[in-house]
Amino acid sequence: MKEKNDDVQAVWNACLEMIKDNIPERSFNTWFSPIKPMGLRGQVLTIQVPSQYYLEYIEGNYWQLLKAAIHKVLGTEGKLEYNVLITNTKGGTITVPPSSIGKVDVQNRHFPIMVDENTNPKEIPNPFILPGLKKLNIHSQLNKDLGFENFIEGECNRLARAAGFAIAEQPGKTAFNPLFIYSSVGLGKTHLANAIGLETKMKNPEMTVLYVDAETFLRQYVEAARGNNINDFIHFYQMLDMLIIDDIQFLSGKTKTQDILFHIFNSFHQKSKQIILTADKSPAEIVGFEQRLLSRFRWGLAADLQVPDKETRIKIIRSKLYNNGIEFITEEVVEYLATRIVTNVREIEGAIISILAQSSLNKKKITVELARQMIDKFVSNTTHDISIDYIQKVVCDYNKTNVSTLFSLSRKRDVVLIRQISMYFSKKYTKFSLAQIGLQCGNKDHATVLHACRTVENLIKTNPDFREKMEEIDVILKSS
Ligand code: ADP
Ligand code: MG
Repeated sequence: MKEKNDDVQAVWNACLEMIKDNIPERSFNTWFSPIKPMGLRGQVLTIQVPSQYYLEYIEGNYWQLLKAAIHKVLGTEGKLEYNVLITNTKGGTITVPPSSIGKVDVQNRHFPIMVDENTNPKEIPNPFILPGLKKLNIHSQLNKDLGFENFIEGECNRLARAAGFAIAEQPGKTAFNPLFIYSSVGLGKTHLANAIGLETKMKNPEMTVLYVDAETFLRQYVEAARGNNINDFIHFYQMLDMLIIDDIQFLSGKTKTQDILFHIFNSFHQKSKQIILTADKSPAEIVGFEQRLLSRFRWGLAADLQVPDKETRIKIIRSKLYNNGIEFITEEVVEYLATRIVTNVREIEGAIISILAQSSLNKKKITVELARQMIDKFVSNTTHDISIDYIQKVVCDYNKTNVSTLFSLSRKRDVVLIRQISMYFSKKYTKFSLAQIGLQCGNKDHATVLHACRTVENLIKTNPDFREKMEEIDVILKSS
């Protein structure tokens, strides 16, 4: 065994001697000192290189020299195989066998480090440390469950969804580059970004798409900087055809990472390659970003996802139930869920899961009562926030009128006032923006809601009768 090891080392040392004589010492130290000889099988020498980038550099620049050295030491049948060190989750290495010096043309060299989209993602080597290769099949990191087929369309997402579809048809070639999707949490940004990626891959299988959340991007950058591998990092990202970065707000204040993103962005844009970004705020509202990046965020289309209206919520609930194999929930329960959970789709899912778990654990029928208990118990406090629907109902009940009058086109003084009171309480008790409140209060714009709030505040100040009524409504709302 020892002899064998000695053989390997001796063969490699002999190669190194020749190489050393032919290149500057600095290049030798940089590119050849870190290489480890790993094995010798007949006339095939295996060496280990630290990264794919390394390998490409060596083959690109020193191929002739390597070939000559191997032929001199091992004869004309001599071949070289590489092991590429890849820091994957298991800390393993990957072997690159086909480079037999003297036979394989470097330019047409085929790398077998292909990651099959169908393999278990856990077994996939970390793709961020595989730079340098032109046609590497990088795993997209897309979640197959988050496709367009189960992304329910509604007024709330129509523009972003349509833009996403158009992009998947012609990535990088539409005016929507970058596509900047923004919304508050749980409204479908990650789902939509994924769906666009999946659709793009389906329609353009040759394209390399990568989904990465900004936290991972940041971490990868920091690791690359620490290991002096920033070029590898940039190189890797520049190889992609489509880049999706989720939750870009995580890069707020991270100026160095933003610099790198700026370069990657420019290179993408120059080559008409598609970028998709998501964030919790619009490019105008997001903070902690360099101006030059912000202005680029605005080059394409910024589209927001809004809170789904009740009709869309019902469709989403039905689809989630269906996907969970549940077909027997009554319309009443669906309606109840859609009314109670208004702020966020993720909470709708949470509620459905806890209801299903309860009903199957305790063999209970899924009733409105069970739904109510589960929502009270499991769904986070935001659902205890009073919903706009609920406010409207309370205000209308108090005024002995039907909720539908709110949505009528009537401009009668008392109807207008009821509408204004609903808007006022919606502003007071929910986190919705003026625009969102307007949408849910008869499709009015934000200026109308603002005007409503001021009118009501003035009346409260100046009219004691009115103030008393408002206090009564307030008590009902607070006790819910
Ligand atoms: P965000 O990234 O905005 O926080 P997600 O994309 O994670 O939100 O969405 C939260 C959950 O809601 C996900 O499970 C997603 O599948 C679901 N969801 C959001 N919007 C829709 C929609 N329009 N149709 C179906 N499911 C949706
Ligand atoms: Mg998300």
